[in-house]
Amino acid sequence: MKTTKIINTFLGCLLLASCSQNNSATSNLYSPFDAKVDSILNLMTIEEKIGQLNLPSAGDITTGQAQSSDIAKKIEEGKVGGLFNIKSVEKIKEVQRIAVEKSRLKIPLLFGMDVIHGYRTTFPIPLGLSCSWDMEMIEKTARIAAIEASADGLNWTFSPMVDISRDPRWGRVSEGSGEDPYLGSEIAKAMVHGYQGDDLSANNTLLACVKHFALYGAVEAGRDYNTVDMSKIRMYNEYLPPYKAAIDAGVGTVMAAFNDVDGVPSTGNKWLLTDLLRNDWNFNGFVVTDYTGINEMIEHGMGNLQQSSALALNAGVDMDMVGEGFLTTVKKSVDEGLIPIAQLNAAVKRILIAKYELGLFENPYKYCDENRAKTEIYTQENRDFARKVGAESMVLLKNNNAILPLKKSGTIALIGPLADTPENMAGTWSVATVQSESISFLDGIKTVAGDKAKILYARGSHLDYDKEFEAIATMHGKALKKEDRTNEELKAEALKIAAQSDVIIAALGESAEMSGECSSRTTIEIPQVQKDLLKALLKTGKPVVLVLFTGRPLVLVEENNSVPAILNVWFSGSEAGLSISDVLFGAVNPSGKITATFPRSVGQIPIYYSYKNTGRPLSNTEGKFVKFLSNYIDERNEPLFPFGFGLSYTNFKYDNITLSSQKLSQNGSINVSVEVTNTGNYNGKEIVQLYTRDLVGSITRPVKELKGFQKIDLKKGETKTVTFTIKAEDLKFYNSDLKFVNEPGDFEVFIGTNSSENLKSTFELLKD
Ligand code: BGC
Repeated sequence: MKTTKIINTFLGCLLLASCSQNNSATSNLYSPFDAKVDSILNLMTIEEKIGQLNLPSAGDITTGQAQSSDIAKKIEEGKVGGLFNIKSVEKIKEVQRIAVEKSRLKIPLLFGMDVIHGYRTTFPIPLGLSCSWDMEMIEKTARIAAIEASADGLNWTFSPMVDISRDPRWGRVSEGSGEDPYLGSEIAKAMVHGYQGDDLSANNTLLACVKHFALYGAVEAGRDYNTVDMSKIRMYNEYLPPYKAAIDAGVGTVMAAFNDVDGVPSTGNKWLLTDLLRNDWNFNGFVVTDYTGINEMIEHGMGNLQQSSALALNAGVDMDMVGEGFLTTVKKSVDEGLIPIAQLNAAVKRILIAKYELGLFENPYKYCDENRAKTEIYTQENRDFARKVGAESMVLLKNNNAILPLKKSGTIALIGPLADTPENMAGTWSVATVQSESISFLDGIKTVAGDKAKILYARGSHLDYDKEFEAIATMHGKALKKEDRTNEELKAEALKIAAQSDVIIAALGESAEMSGECSSRTTIEIPQVQKDLLKALLKTGKPVVLVLFTGRPLVLVEENNSVPAILNVWFSGSEAGLSISDVLFGAVNPSGKITATFPRSVGQIPIYYSYKNTGRPLSNTEGKFVKFLSNYIDERNEPLFPFGFGLSYTNFKYDNITLSSQKLSQNGSINVSVEVTNTGNYNGKEIVQLYTRDLVGSITRPVKELKGFQKIDLKKGETKTVTFTIKAEDLKFYNSDLKFVNEPGDFEVFIGTNSSENLKSTFELLKD
């Protein structure tokens, strides 16, 4: 954490000296609160120490009942260090009171929750948010989430989730920032700073938790909780950077992932949690498991609960989420010599230090201010901001004949099972959202169109032909209004209103529950019943705009071939209906660019822009099959939409890539510039992207790597020169010895509107 890093060398040495009396497990604990924490530790029984490592879920504690719940008894006995899934000042105050008034040592509790993309004011799902490429805005969403959550009594969030993923079958791609380590690292930093601010002890900041450490986004076959097997080179260069960026930004806690890494589950992986995280990266905060992560090691084949718990604690886990493996077995393991007492002490200290840093020892009710709860949550100002953020996250995938923006006139038919569903707007992990209050697409479009255009609505179809699947994907009908009519009846009604309209908007795609945790899919297309509806709408000959709801990149080949305009709106938060309508009618010109590649076929997965060349690369990009080159016989290599792709209502032209020098010295820098002109009819924003390619290396290097981006505003007709600076440091990578080096030689540099359309130049990196 930041404060722990500012400590001066003298104090650092003193504390190190005192720590070294224990053993190496405590060697990187040096905090201004160290002495205070030591004095508490001296007072603690072993049971109380183990209690601090316990993080149960609050279940359905209700106000007034908390005192008599099971949890209350445990808190009184000093067997709980923190609680999660509890919110509201009233409830949290009541529970905190038990800890600080009834437990022997009166140690306050942490209160955590999955505050993932906003709190009650909900922003787009993280994958959508990342498509804004707007770090200031992203940081502000985390700041607002922290303000609202802390006003509701919370002091800890299990966010940011920074798992790189290149597999859209995995449902949790929706929770991360896509496929790229550079962009992912920038977002990780912005989120951590947004949550924690500059002063963790302020009552409107939250302790952040970077997750899931590590590599969870690379689960085999995209199936949730599955095995991960990855070379160290790939880990260090492609998957670890965003976690490291969060650590460098001072994140207070880290969550261990469910999956294994190099054959050992992350939760029991000493290399990961101690050697890398603490010793190499100097992480000083505490590590929490994921939900029952320790117990799951039994299934992974790591031994019984006592063995798994000892493995976890000795590996570097400090807090046990839900499973109570620590609570029930650690004393026995210490008695039997399986866990050194110093290891236990170190874990307790880390948790107590976090409590000091949050200011909880000074005032355990610091986050329990009724007045803040009444005035700072779901304010109009926050909602207005969410409306803006929602629009910034949307990606225009196609817009033939400039169908969009729509005119506010005539009759518009809004058709589809996702059009009139407030519960489906916020997307996965919106625990504090009042789902029924979110603005549905239908409500939003009616508000924004006002009396200028007539809006007709029909549901058009069910979510899916398969009723059982639909039940899973809609929380048994809760998340999508129940509908008893048949698909044929729904389609007939839709065609009727389509016939009366000038333009048709089809609101189709995934329901919110079709992505997120435990929502992996093997077919990543729009469900067939909705595709059939779309075909029928296209057959009317009227202009059709597809407004696509999704939590992952989908395979959209058919739609791209047949629909003139596609706007990908993800799940854009509590104000979604307004954000979508702002974009459709042109109040906001879309500028989002996808941060995860959209494949043509599920068979291309994993697919990403920064791939490596094979020894037999396909020399054409027209998708022509060539025998004995690296391609498929039934599909071309390129994705449908490449990383960084996204259209605007206007057009941008790139000219004149220029370099300040074609030689880059080890201590110098070069500027790379390009002229970007808005050649269309609307003012707009463009995300200008810089990529490099290292042409010769000691290891194979990607064909392109993102190294910079700028989001610029351009009035119609305006030209701006956009300049990036490249330093030798930016060209470093981990080599075969896992040394972070750059290698002198020739590089290509690309600037453009996405990862596949760009202008190119070259430079040489000198030895010194
Ligand atoms: C998820 C985590 C989450 C935790 C607590 C787990 O199932 O993997 O991302 O933070 O639950 O809700």
